Amino acid sequence: MAIRVLPPDLAAKIAAGEVIERPASAVKELIENALDAKSETIDVEIEDGGIARITVRDDGEGMSDDDLRLCTARHATSKLRRDSDLLSIHTLGFRGEALASLAAVAHLSIVTRLQTAKDGFRLDVGPGVEPTLAPAGRAPGTTVDVRRLFASFPARSKFLGTPRTESFHVGRCVHRLAVATPDVGWSLRHGTRWMLRAPAVRDPRERLAQIYGPETARELIPFALTRSGIEVEGLAGPPELRRSHRRDQLFIVNGRPVSDRGLSYVVGSAYHGMLRRGTYPLVLIHVRVPPETVDVNVHPRKDEIRFREPRVVQETVSAALQQALASRYAVPHLASASVAEPRPAGTTPRRSPPSRERLPLDFDRLSQASREEKAGEKVSPAGSRRAIGQLRETYLLVEGPDGLEIVDQHVAHEQILHVRLQRQYTDGDLPRQQFLLPVRIELPFDDAERIIAHRDHLERLGVVLDEFGGGTFLLREYPAALAEQQTRYGFQEAIDRLVEALAHGQSGEQALLGRLLASLACAAAVTAGTSLSRIEQQALVDALMTLEDPYRCPHGRPIILRFDDDELARRFGRR
Ligand code: ADP
Ligand code: MG
Repeated sequence: MAIRVLPPDLAAKIAAGEVIERPASAVKELIENALDAKSETIDVEIEDGGIARITVRDDGEGMSDDDLRLCTARHATSKLRRDSDLLSIHTLGFRGEALASLAAVAHLSIVTRLQTAKDGFRLDVGPGVEPTLAPAGRAPGTTVDVRRLFASFPARSKFLGTPRTESFHVGRCVHRLAVATPDVGWSLRHGTRWMLRAPAVRDPRERLAQIYGPETARELIPFALTRSGIEVEGLAGPPELRRSHRRDQLFIVNGRPVSDRGLSYVVGSAYHGMLRRGTYPLVLIHVRVPPETVDVNVHPRKDEIRFREPRVVQETVSAALQQALASRYAVPHLASASVAEPRPAGTTPRRSPPSRERLPLDFDRLSQASREEKAGEKVSPAGSRRAIGQLRETYLLVEGPDGLEIVDQHVAHEQILHVRLQRQYTDGDLPRQQFLLPVRIELPFDDAERIIAHRDHLERLGVVLDEFGGGTFLLREYPAALAEQQTRYGFQEAIDRLVEALAHGQSGEQALLGRLLASLACAAAVTAGTSLSRIEQQALVDALMTLEDPYRCPHGRPIILRFDDDELARRFGRR
């Protein structure tokens, strides 16, 4: 095969693909430019998820006509001059690629006016279009308009999601940058719908209140620690505010929102034992390190970084988080989250904090249900099973007809609730509980959008949510079979789980409803680590034995493990 040098426009498109992957990456680059220009207000508008149009308007420094002429050339930047500047980057941008990349894959028009100038200028440029520059009126600042992203680039446009999906990504990106900059006023509008309106505020907590709601923000625990030149500061969510995703873990390093596995790991270990598997805390962590100790030029999209000494940073973050959590929860705490360090001898492992949502099982309902079901067609073998205790507040020990049985209390309860809910749904009479006092639910705006989009699905399952505005919803109805087992945090968690289930790719309606039912049951089921009375244990076992298949959950996870009398006898040498 003959080697050929690519024509420049094709080479530019390929390079652009690394920087601009989807509308959200375009929005991110434009916002970074606005922040680098020291803007105080940034307004973002998108149409069709940003595929048809993205507009970012700022009130920053602006550009001269000479700069405007140059700004879309590849490797044109005002932020780096010499090699050594790469070692101490203070701006969000520095590669001089974003505008050039955008001009290769979309029609771009930029209107800008220097703070000090009387007039502004406008530049129009796009793939295969000669750039034109003309005088234009504008208040000081810059507006960048991106139209028809990837329209001339089918290889990329094929991989774009629906406008709704793309708008989630844009929302998440704006939200991350807005959290990093409370002193900047933000707005984000998708078509006619506001996704964020957040005037400048004094501190991160107020910004989080704008995004997650005031009740959530109030409960965050502040922390700050400086050690060996590393400044760590932030807000830690109490374990009850758990999420079923990691999206609400926000790491900001020298003002730049980043993803970093090392820091995620540290958060995981700081909360270890306070959260059950598959749930994550809400945390905001600002890290400030000398710029020469972190490499931000790891990835064309600049959302990953490399610390020169990651361990020192991780240990400082870990110590800061631990202090925050220890100040609120009397947890015996380990010296440091010991990133892969063995625990010093003699220390006790952490225990869960006293959970505010520890509710006893609703055993009345459970045993009533099992009585009803027993009266029906199924003859239950439950009578011959006796709950004899709980192991680690997680497993029930049961004397069964043939030996010892160990029951996973969470999976068992989940399965009981799921089967009941499923039957009520199929029978078309899913009893609902109406709340006299509706429960407030607070959601970040991207989650709010999902809930709104699927309101009718949720309603069919007995979950009725009214939009209250600003990401706050009022939960008015809930499936009766589950309502009594939930607290406010439980409801919030259930709704988070529903959002997660809704986000779970495309599938048919039945599959979606099935996932939603399963999420509801899981959120309502008693968790591992909950102490149950003997009566509750027995009620759970009785209810479990009325199921068609009490041994396995639909995903194949066992519910009951059995140790036969024969085997016990053999092991003890009785035979
Ligand atoms: P980089 O941000 O890496 O320098 P970009 O392609 O994003 O590269 O931008 C090129 C240059 O255009 C920037 O260095 C800056 O001088 C100028 N610029 C871009 N956007 C703005 C803006 N909103 N306000 C002022 N100047 C801008
Ligand atoms: Mg830039």
